[in-house]
Amino acid sequence: MAYDAELYREIEAEYEDIRRQNEVDLAERRERVFKNVPEAFDVDNEIKMLGLKLYKIALSGGNVQQQVKNLRTQQKQLLSKRDALLVENGYATDELSERFLCAKCRDTGAVGTELCDCYKRKLVLKAYERSNLSSQLKNQSFKTFDLSLYSDEQSIDFGISPREHMKGILNTCLGFVNNFGKTDKSLLFWGAPGLGKTFLSTCIAKELIKKGYSVIYETAYQTFSMLEELKFKRTDDYDKLKFKVDKLYTCDLLILDDLGSEFSTQYTNAALFDILNSRLISGKKTVINTNLSVAEFEYKYSERVASRIIGHFLMLHFIGSDIRLEKSVNDLK
Ligand SMILES: [Zn+2]
Repeated sequence: MAYDAELYREIEAEYEDIRRQNEVDLAERRERVFKNVPEAFDVDNEIKMLGLKLYKIALSGGNVQQQVKNLRTQQKQLLSKRDALLVENGYATDELSERFLCAKCRDTGAVGTELCDCYKRKLVLKAYERSNLSSQLKNQSFKTFDLSLYSDEQSIDFGISPREHMKGILNTCLGFVNNFGKTDKSLLFWGAPGLGKTFLSTCIAKELIKKGYSVIYETAYQTFSMLEELKFKRTDDYDKLKFKVDKLYTCDLLILDDLGSEFSTQYTNAALFDILNSRLISGKKTVINTNLSVAEFEYKYSERVASRIIGHFLMLHFIGSDIRLEKSVNDLK
């Protein structure tokens, strides 16, 4: 699975900036030191000349072993002299050398032919930002999903405790993530507000982004606003908006939050159908969060949308009482 080429372009440009900044920093440091310690300038020059000599000797061929050895000894002495001068004048010994943000790849982003860890971290962080979830992703993950917030008392309506029921939903979500490339089912989370639908969607997003999938999170309200703005060209930056809307169709996972709360029109209904249908045809998966039941769904949108959803989404019913309220009450205790 590969991230968008655009992310790589952005990161390559960042490394170029870092390297340019490193060069500027080095030049400034050297200038400062040489101004304060002129002797260091002479020693540094001698070291440079020796380096040049070594290079020439190596090129000349023949038996150069002894000459190289002598020059190396001289070089070592000069380096010690330079270090001593720096320390005497209150500088670090690497004051005249290149400094890197990542010593492992020397700010190139690669170690041998492999991407450096710092590069991989940048990729994930950028993909987080792209998903619109970067702030939530900081502290929401499967690890912090707390089943104990759900009651373990058996629900009369469902014949199971919310906690036990949610354990099943959690496992389904984990399975969804682990089999993301293989499954063709999307997910629909439905139930009252405050039962963890958005939280679990974020957990899914986080794991998939780490695996290199492109994930976009949008509220239904925001999605429909974008679609209308695009249709009526109510935007200062048409290309940017078009790019964002295209992503709704092409990203590996679209999370459509709070569907049903927005004001829908014939146009938005048609647009919703188009997005869901296009994604289904191209094998892309979607997670929908909604407070609506299937019947309400059919009523609000159209039978066409509802039947598309019933056929291709695994419907997971969130039950229990508002865990956000319970959590805030517990926090007060
Ligand atoms: Zn690195």
